[in-house]
Amino acid sequence: MVEKIVTPGRVIMGRLKKGDDLLSALTEICVKNSITAGEVRAIGAVTKARVGYYKQQKREYTYISFAEPLEIISLVGNISLKDKEPFVHAHITLMDEEGHSYGGHLAPGTEVFACEYIIQEYHTGDQGLNRVYNEKTGLALWEDGK
Ligand code: ZN
Repeated sequence: MVEKIVTPGRVIMGRLKKGDDLLSALTEICVKNSITAGEVRAIGAVTKARVGYYKQQKREYTYISFAEPLEIISLVGNISLKDKEPFVHAHITLMDEEGHSYGGHLAPGTEVFACEYIIQEYHTGDQGLNRVYNEKTGLALWEDGK
């Protein structure tokens, strides 16, 4: 287990622009505001989407693309450091015109139609919360020193 006691910092509420890449835009906000740990939530709509699914046996992501307008029912994610840069890890649930839901690991290629976000900063103290390669999963996870 890896855990850190964190304390709340700033809260940023905002709106992304139509045409933004959702993941890049959220990452840029963190970089611009020097947010190195935190939580992100958002709702809105996208013009197209791309989400990942991690194949645990193969240790690789497979991606699904949706080339249609979808609602963002829920986006939840966290912010930590990867290679010393703010890194957003977010999962998204989307809904089509008929009410069907889809979702997954938010990937580049998801384009904003409208999006309202809330970012909660956390202070971690000392070295921060860092992602490092984890041999047991093949993923970049919060470090535990083994
Ligand atoms: Zn994920």
